[in-house]
Amino acid sequence: MTSISGLTIDAIRGGLLERRFSVEELTREALRQGEIENLRTNAFLTFSPERALENAKRVDRKIAAGEDPGALAGVPVAVKDVILTEGVRTTAGSRMLERYIPPYDATAITRLEQAGGIVIGKTNCDEFAMGSSNENSAFGPVRNPIDPERVPGGSSGGSAAAVAQGTAVVALGSDTGGSVRQPASFCGVVGVTPTYGRVSRYGLIAFASSLDHIAPFARNVKDAASVLQTIAGRDPLDATSAFAPVPDYVAALDGKVEGLKLGIPREYFQGLTGETAQVMDGAINRLRRLGCEPVDISLPATDYAIATYYVIATAEASSNLARYDGVRYTVRSEHSETLADMYRNTRGEGFGAECKRRIMLGTYVLSHGYYDAYYLKAQQVRNLITQDFRKAFEEVDAVIAPVSPFPAFKLGEKLSDPLEMYLSDIYTITGSLAGIPCMSVPAGKTAAGLPVGMQILTRHFNEAGMFRLAHAFEQVTDR
Ligand code: GLN
Repeated sequence: MTSISGLTIDAIRGGLLERRFSVEELTREALRQGEIENLRTNAFLTFSPERALENAKRVDRKIAAGEDPGALAGVPVAVKDVILTEGVRTTAGSRMLERYIPPYDATAITRLEQAGGIVIGKTNCDEFAMGSSNENSAFGPVRNPIDPERVPGGSSGGSAAAVAQGTAVVALGSDTGGSVRQPASFCGVVGVTPTYGRVSRYGLIAFASSLDHIAPFARNVKDAASVLQTIAGRDPLDATSAFAPVPDYVAALDGKVEGLKLGIPREYFQGLTGETAQVMDGAINRLRRLGCEPVDISLPATDYAIATYYVIATAEASSNLARYDGVRYTVRSEHSETLADMYRNTRGEGFGAECKRRIMLGTYVLSHGYYDAYYLKAQQVRNLITQDFRKAFEEVDAVIAPVSPFPAFKLGEKLSDPLEMYLSDIYTITGSLAGIPCMSVPAGKTAAGLPVGMQILTRHFNEAGMFRLAHAFEQVTDR
């Protein structure tokens, strides 16, 4: 059986149609490799062999009957454990949901499986998607497959690692402030955050609802485009999902990029040093050689992004996490005399330190007397950040930025200082606040072989343009 690590969506399709392997064989192999790799990386929290094999047989039957097996036929998919899967445990990386078995599927999962994709398991993540290193998971950290002494990034570190280590061909993560782009950069894979509302959030465990996205990982741009194509589009079950039609992202990949104007925002490069700066220099030179024109721009509100994000995200999190009260969702503290004790003890035992920190901060910024000073102010600044991009896109076709100030860091290195950890997201948070499509595409490596991603940001609903540029860049970049 072929190793999963060399496969792409096209290669799987070819292999299935030429009968070189069946979906069932491929699925068994993905599960087998996943179990072995897990001893090293801890990328998966739960494997779903029954569900995977049942789906695999269904897709094999379609192929045997000469029916169209779907755009993702037989493709092994890893899914971050904040996305609900009916009958398959979904923990959000938290003790609070340790035994939670969802009664329904997220829309993105339904669409993936209808297209023939095979969900092989659920991946480790920071608790309720809060973190940048995967060290906030209640089930132990994930290790970066490229260097197990280092973090894979977070919060969707398990999904990024599953793709990088070659047990899944594509994966779903969630991105609220950078949780797909940053681990994609740290693990050397492609990670895409679509326009807010492009993909239904139905069945995504809520962290900060106005910022949350379901977002794909893949080993190349084309595969990422195929996955987004499959899961995007209006869903009546999510009122914030967009009505905008979904163009054919894969067909749009080969258009021309010559003559594109690319904004290089001063604020993102000023403090950038070391090997990340060197990789970005090389990347911009390659874009120039592709015929693109880099243009110096300014996004002045960038300085306020971290503060703005941590007010809005914690405020929304404090409200979303109120539902874990010991009455619903399985976990309840055992030794409580009164109802108030039961709430207190359940939440005290169920949530980890980072969740508690955010619930407290969020409750504070929403409290009477502080709402105007913090939450309202943050919403106003969010608007300024969005205006910055809007103005930039009057002049340029896309913005090019680093994904993170540094490559994958060592486990434990930033754990003692939450503020230092928050700074890992300094370049990804602005795109999330503006709700625009943005992605990380591998741009090069440090001398020690650590991957560095380049970020592309573009105007609302211009995923096709973003993919086209990323695809052209990928053709001229060494892996
Ligand atoms: N690292 C950021 C945070 O901790 C972003 C997380 C995310 O995108 N889910 O909030």
